[in-house]
Amino acid sequence: MEATIFNVQRFSTEDGPGIRTTVFFKGCPLRCAWCHNPEGISPRPELMWYDTHCIAARDCLAACPESALELTADGMNIDRDKCTACGTCAEECPAAALDIIGVTWTLDKLFDEIVRDVSFYENSGGGITLSGGEVLLQHDFASALIHKCKQNKLHVAVDTTGFASPGIFDNVTGPADLVLLDLKTMDDAASREFTGVSLDLILENARRLGQSGKPVWVRTPVVPGATDSPDNIEAVSRFIVANLPNCERYDLLPFSNLCISKYERLDMPFRFRKTELPAQESMDELKSLAESCGVKNVVVQGLTVRNA
Ligand code: SF4
Ligand code: SF4
Repeated sequence: MEATIFNVQRFSTEDGPGIRTTVFFKGCPLRCAWCHNPEGISPRPELMWYDTHCIAARDCLAACPESALELTADGMNIDRDKCTACGTCAEECPAAALDIIGVTWTLDKLFDEIVRDVSFYENSGGGITLSGGEVLLQHDFASALIHKCKQNKLHVAVDTTGFASPGIFDNVTGPADLVLLDLKTMDDAASREFTGVSLDLILENARRLGQSGKPVWVRTPVVPGATDSPDNIEAVSRFIVANLPNCERYDLLPFSNLCISKYERLDMPFRFRKTELPAQESMDELKSLAESCGVKNVVVQGLTVRNA
């Protein structure tokens, strides 16, 4: 059994309790305009070029069997229609300026990687988190990995958009110890505009999750002009209070633009290129608003700016 993974992040502290290893599954059915991990959207492996590493040795150009590369004064042009992500150019580059994002892992190999840090999990109350992209796109592998972790008494969290058929959602989240559920907006038109999908399936799964009794952390990215209105945060908060009595924590995640270089390296447009980080004061107000709606344990987690 194999999966395409774009990162295995050890010593993660933001994706559930304690010290964790977060496994990022490649491929997502959503297209969030603010996505912080654009390299996780396509299900296929992709080539990235790092201008800061490149020494213009040009070995990659000669090595490419598809003639997909062109190095110009403005940088590397990657013809993504031609590129098969074979990785030959990355192997030949003496400066490690090219990399294939998305590696095939077998279940056993990935589990061996995860258990390297088991002592950290035990001492910190941590474990592993399956994230993405959207982990539910590779649900058979995800289920098998969760079962293997549970057989070995590891704490497992699943970080999901909730956008999957109810059967798949239940199969993957059922055996997990914790679900990190993204609720980005309660406005279906905004959801369609900014993420590319309707809310129906997400809210249906969220309501069922609320009846399951399983611990849940809800997370909302607070994106200026998209999800940051008090009306939206109030609507998410009221949904949590009405439907998710098992919600243990509500994370408000300030928009971050640290992903700009990833968009450039993937030749992808970034709609929020000029958007600034939210102000701490605004985040504090949204936190108070959520609390006033009855949501418990509201946490602002991420970088903000402070108004003078
Ligand atoms: S990954 Fe393969 S096909 Fe793509 S640019 Fe590199 S050598 Fe060419
Ligand atoms: S759901 Fe997450 S991974 Fe998928 S596009 Fe949105 S922000 Fe990116």
